[in-house]
Amino acid sequence: MAAVHEAEALSQGAPAHDWDAIVIGAGMSGLYMLYRLRELGLRVRVFEAGTGVGGTWYWNRYPGARFDSESYSYGYSFSPELLQEWSWSEHFAAQPETLRYLNYVADKFDLRRDIQFRSRVTSAHYQEMRRSWEVTLQDGARYRAPFLITAIGLLSAPTLPRIAGIESFRGQSFHTAQWPHDPVHFAHKRVAVLGSGATGVQTIQEVAKTAGHLTVLQRRPNWCAPLHNSKIDEAAQARIKAGYPEMFARCRATFACFLHTPDPRGTFEVTPDEREAFFEKLYAERGFGIWQGNFRDILTDRAANAAISAFVARKIRERVRDPRVAEKLIPKDHGFGTRRVPLETHYYEVYNQPNVELVDIKHSPIERITPDGIKTRDAALAFDIMIYATGFDAITGSFDRIDIRGRDGQKLRAKWANGPQTFLGVQVEGFPNMFMLMGPHTALGNIPRSIEYNVEWVTNLIAYMRQRRLTRADALPRAVAAWTDHVKDMGEGLLSNEVDSWMTGINSNIAGKQSRIIARYSGSAPAYRKRCDEVAADGYRELALG
Ligand SMILES: Cc1cc2nc3c(=O)[nH]c(=O)nc-3n(C[C@H](O)[C@H](O)[C@H](O)COP(=O)(O)OP(=O)(O)OC[C@H]3O[C@@H](n4cnc5c(N)ncnc54)[C@H](O)[C@@H]3O)c2cc1C
Repeated sequence: MAAVHEAEALSQGAPAHDWDAIVIGAGMSGLYMLYRLRELGLRVRVFEAGTGVGGTWYWNRYPGARFDSESYSYGYSFSPELLQEWSWSEHFAAQPETLRYLNYVADKFDLRRDIQFRSRVTSAHYQEMRRSWEVTLQDGARYRAPFLITAIGLLSAPTLPRIAGIESFRGQSFHTAQWPHDPVHFAHKRVAVLGSGATGVQTIQEVAKTAGHLTVLQRRPNWCAPLHNSKIDEAAQARIKAGYPEMFARCRATFACFLHTPDPRGTFEVTPDEREAFFEKLYAERGFGIWQGNFRDILTDRAANAAISAFVARKIRERVRDPRVAEKLIPKDHGFGTRRVPLETHYYEVYNQPNVELVDIKHSPIERITPDGIKTRDAALAFDIMIYATGFDAITGSFDRIDIRGRDGQKLRAKWANGPQTFLGVQVEGFPNMFMLMGPHTALGNIPRSIEYNVEWVTNLIAYMRQRRLTRADALPRAVAAWTDHVKDMGEGLLSNEVDSWMTGINSNIAGKQSRIIARYSGSAPAYRKRCDEVAADGYRELALG
């Protein structure tokens, strides 16, 4: 049917393409993709659901939102001029500053003129005869281009909890990723926060400063570690700006593109005193060092993981006055670092405040949301404001929300029903000329570093095709099978793959996301890049080009 429609349109002389490339999403990935494709001379259109650029940093305006990556290691590295012009004010910038930064980038490189805001893509269908992607927006408008690049984010499809009565609440309620653009005031208000992942932790520690009463409804605690944020003074600013080449070289060399990388020693290769001193040093350091720069075996060896978990549990007990509350805050179902580690600033001390209460909803389950608040098994709790820090349908969620169809009308959702299958996390067999940025099976870590690499890899492939007048790139089935197996192999032995989390594709708030999948590439970023470089150097022979 689709082919008949297509053939008719072609015979009526409808223009084959509106643009040379369509990019979906104007976050860090989409902005950089636009910049690079323009350099190649392509006519590009970016469709963005929001009203401005920035992606994650446009949507997540919740109180306390900020980086866990060091600001300077997060920004784009491609423009030396930009690096010198922009000054980060804090080691871990807050969301408003990052949003300002991305707006600055959009203006500096005059990107906005090719971005169409308020434009949610609802479907993308490949048309074999035209060798073209047809994209439909929510308002019904349709556009075509030979290349489709998805820059739709790995944490961009917000999910609410599946709780009966959620619509009935009469007070104000917010999802952290759909936060209003005007400030929300908490003084004298009874506030509930549901969720205690990285976002929940940032929200709780901020809201607790002003809320009349704050109730944290916790299903499972996470292992958190101190952020140790501070302002960047002039001398440090000068050092950062002078040291960018070395810093980015370091990010390129580390396992996950962070400034931190695992210590080559095993946990039990040192004396107990040395181990303790090393843990103390990491706990006192800025950022993800305690997670990414710890002994090399803490994420693979159970005994090593138990040692760091016991250390962090002790810290929590020292910081929380009421021992019963402390016990509730200590995870018992997974070890330190096997889920995303939230970084915190006085998070545990919040529970020493008289205006803050912790409700363990594993112990006292939520029965329903009522017009006045929340009914748990044991109590009826009244609130003025409800904050859902319940996260995202991660990695594949933003793909699932678009009706993506490849050759012969096959649906991406169906193709990935049992988990994603990709080549390098960039292509899917049967979906020619669709390139994914930060899709499943790519290296994540300090994400902009991976974004820049992926964008450049895709740019080089498109340049290669245009030089040779090739109009179609598809992944070969054997290449997909080999890469998907490789991604699985890389996850073997990692304790994190034995734990339910967004990184293993679990989301209890979404039907059908209760079985673990391998959603991300968990090998090292340098190994990932080496493999992708080899594919390019070999003339993309693992792709079907035509
Ligand atoms: C609260 C929070 C804190 C984070 N902190 C860090 C950190 O410290 N370090 C780190 O490395 N990473 C962090 N991340 C991860 C972050 O998502 C990435 O660093 C990065 O911003 C991803 O950029 P992106 O452009 O790939 O995706 P996004 O920033 O998610 O942008 C995707 C864009 O696509 C748009 N879009 C999606 N679907 C459609 C559609 N159908 N039609 C039109 N537009 C669409 C969205 O509106 C969005 O603007 C954080 C994420 C969150 C949520």
